[in-house]
Amino acid sequence: MEKIAKKIQMVDLKGQYEKIKIEVDAAIQNVLNTTAYINGPEVKAFQAELEQYLGVKHVIPCANGTDALQIAMMALDLKPGDEVITADFTYVATAEVIALLGLKPVLVDVIPDTFDIDIVAIEKAITSKTKAIVPVHLFGQCANMEAIMALAKKHNLFVIEDNAQAIGSNYFYADGTVKKAGTIGTIGCTSFFPSKNLGCYGDGGALFTNDDTLAAKIRMIANHGQSVQYVHDSIGVNSRLDSIQAAILRIKLRELDNYAEARNKAAEYYDKAFANNPKLKTPARAKYSNHVFHQYTVQLNGVDRNALRDFLASKDIPAMIYYPIPLHMQKAYLDPRYKAGDFPVTEKLCASVVSFPMHTELDEETLKYITDSVLEFCK
Ligand SMILES: *Cc1c(COP(=O)(O)O)cnc(C)c1O
Repeated sequence: MEKIAKKIQMVDLKGQYEKIKIEVDAAIQNVLNTTAYINGPEVKAFQAELEQYLGVKHVIPCANGTDALQIAMMALDLKPGDEVITADFTYVATAEVIALLGLKPVLVDVIPDTFDIDIVAIEKAITSKTKAIVPVHLFGQCANMEAIMALAKKHNLFVIEDNAQAIGSNYFYADGTVKKAGTIGTIGCTSFFPSKNLGCYGDGGALFTNDDTLAAKIRMIANHGQSVQYVHDSIGVNSRLDSIQAAILRIKLRELDNYAEARNKAAEYYDKAFANNPKLKTPARAKYSNHVFHQYTVQLNGVDRNALRDFLASKDIPAMIYYPIPLHMQKAYLDPRYKAGDFPVTEKLCASVVSFPMHTELDEETLKYITDSVLEFCK
C-alpha cells in the first residue's frame, strides 16, 4: 500500500485551527489590545455561553480539569478518611485529587462493552464512610447516570461527574428527558486541554452546577477562598481560566456540535471497516447516551498489540493505548486493599485496547489508509 502524503496524527489541532484561524487570530489580538488577561469580559462571555449550551445554571471556569475535580471535592467539604468511589479504568487525575485531599479512593471495575463504571460494583463498594461517587464519562459517552443518581439518592452521596472527555454528549433518561453530560450530578467537571473535544490552546477547565450556594462556594475556593477582596473565609486555591483561552473557547464552542458530527462520521467509517473482523471489537454505544468520540477505542482479540502498533508506525500511523495500567496497579496507588485480579474487566481492557486517530479533520482517504493498514495486520 502506498503511504499517503498527509501526516497522520492522533489529533490534528493544526488542521482544525486553519479553518477558524481568521476568527481566532482576531480574538487573541483583541485580548492583547484590551490587556484584560485575567477575568476579562471574554471569560464572562464564555461562561454565559457555555451555561446556555449546556442548559446548566452555573459554569465556573478554572485552570484545568484536575483542578476542577479538586475544587469540587473541596466545595463539598469532603474530609480526610471520607471514601470516594471511582472507576479503576480512567485517567489518573480522577483518583489523584481524591488521594491528594487525604480522601480514600475506592476503586471499582467497569463494564466491558462501554467502558462505563459498573453500577453493581459501586453498590457493593458503598460503606458508612462513602461520601461521593465520581463517574467518568470515558472516551466520549456518559456513564449510566440515572442508575448512579438513584444509588446516590438512596445512600445520600454526592456525585461528581468527570466530564473531561464527553463535553457536548447527551444523556437520555428512560422517560425521554435529555440532559447534557456534566449537568446531572451534584457537580460536573471538565477540561479544556488542547486535545479534548472542546480544547483551548493551553490549559483550562470548568465546573458546572445547578446549585446556587455550591456555585458561590466553588467560585470562592477557586479564588484563594476569598469572599470579598483580601477577606479569606476558607482555604482555597488559585485556579483561573485566562482571557485568551476563553476567547478561543468561545469560537470553538460554536463549532462543538459540528466537531462531534465529524468525529461520529470517522467512528462510523472505522465501525464499518472493522465490522466483520473477529479480532477487532468496535466500541459499543450505550443506550442512555450518544457518543462524542473523544477516543475511538477497539478491543483486540488474539492480536499482538505491540506488533500491531509497530506495523502501523512503519506506515506512519499512530495508535495509542488508553490506558495501559489499571489504577490499582500503578505504583502511586498501590494499596493493600487491592491486588492483581481484583478488577478483571479493567485488567483485560488495559491489556487489549488500542485507540486509533480520532479528530475533526479525518478525511476518507486517511480513514481508508488507516483501516486498510489495520486490516492488513489483523487478517
Ligand atoms: C484530561 C482528563 C482530566 C484532567 O484534565 P486536565 O485539564 O489535563 O487537568 C481528568 N479526567 C479525565 C478523564 C481526563 O481525560
